[in-house]
Amino acid sequence: MMNKQTKKKIYLSSPTMHGHEQKFVQEAFASNWVAPLGPNVDYFEKELAAYVGSGYAAALSSGTAAIHLALRLLGTAQGDTVFVSSLTFSASCNPIMYEKATPVFIDSEPDTWNMSPEALKKAFEKYPRPKAVIVVHLYGTPAKLTEILAICEEYQVPVIEDAAESLSATYRGKLTGSFGKLGVFSFNGNKIITTSGGGMLVSDEEEYITKARFLSTQARDPARHYQHSQLGYNYRMSNIVAGIGRGQLLYLEEHKQKKQALYRQYQDAFADIPAITMNPLNRDGEANNWLSCITIDKESPVTPDMVMDALDAENIEARPIWKPMHRQPVFAGYDFIPHHNEGNIAVSEDIFARGLCLPSDIKNTEEDMELIISTIRSLF
Ligand SMILES: *Cc1c(COP(=O)(O)O)cnc(C)c1O
Repeated sequence: MMNKQTKKKIYLSSPTMHGHEQKFVQEAFASNWVAPLGPNVDYFEKELAAYVGSGYAAALSSGTAAIHLALRLLGTAQGDTVFVSSLTFSASCNPIMYEKATPVFIDSEPDTWNMSPEALKKAFEKYPRPKAVIVVHLYGTPAKLTEILAICEEYQVPVIEDAAESLSATYRGKLTGSFGKLGVFSFNGNKIITTSGGGMLVSDEEEYITKARFLSTQARDPARHYQHSQLGYNYRMSNIVAGIGRGQLLYLEEHKQKKQALYRQYQDAFADIPAITMNPLNRDGEANNWLSCITIDKESPVTPDMVMDALDAENIEARPIWKPMHRQPVFAGYDFIPHHNEGNIAVSEDIFARGLCLPSDIKNTEEDMELIISTIRSLF
């Protein structure tokens, strides 16, 4: 038997470059315009805003920076409460802490794994005046936006859409990220398109984006000397990085179709195994299937760890579901609003306990997929 190291590595979700990116990067080199800003940044912002259907966009160094600036733009400060999905990556809520505000973690609902409108309602009854609500579209499945936006509208609280995982996913015919007062995208290496690292903040309100560009370039006042009246950041995207983004954007639809095809292939492959359920879609939208995930029935003797171990032995990368933020030591002591009443396990905790993310790399070959699928099937 071959040992693990000699086997080809199959990744969870790694960058897929096409060569086209180099044309834009080359232009930046040829004009010596590698940094700081420059034409690629301007075009990348315009192209992404047009694609998403948002009025304006600011290209930034990361999705985390975009969430941080979104909170700053809404005036978040110490003493403020911010509601955020609990089942997410820590980047969704770390910026709340940067501003010394107080996160309140909202449970998932089982239909889409995203923020539960029922739990959100309960949160508003307990804390009627949060500064913002950060809604995540987990693994590229749109949240129940109609319900969530209606509740937030009733309380007149702005929504920040964390669409870091859901670029190209739609809800009722509109792109995710374009619904909230502010929308956030990430171009980290594992996302559906990548710039090697980067993010974007979008909004229909020009004022927000103008201010985001100002804050992301050290908040320099319009004076000849260096004067600062506000705290700034070094959060802007470079012209080289934006060039990669422009090239990747040309392949976004192709990436999405391939991600969706991987999901369908897993769905078909496990259709006859009742213990396996695919991560949910949203019938009011179209997921981008950034990652394909499964949950395993509680009664099954197979655990997510057993599946991950079996895949790992074949040098195949799989990952646990995000561990809910309300269960993280760093956020101990902050409130969590569950979907169900007392006595039931929280929906987010149940998904974490029974779920895992399957290899969702669009460069997977037919043989790779057969190996992944047969390795999993052999356990059931
Ligand atoms: C990746 C991700 C982010 C952060 O994006 P970075 O560009 O890595 O800073 C934020 N939220 C979610 C849900 C993510 O998956």
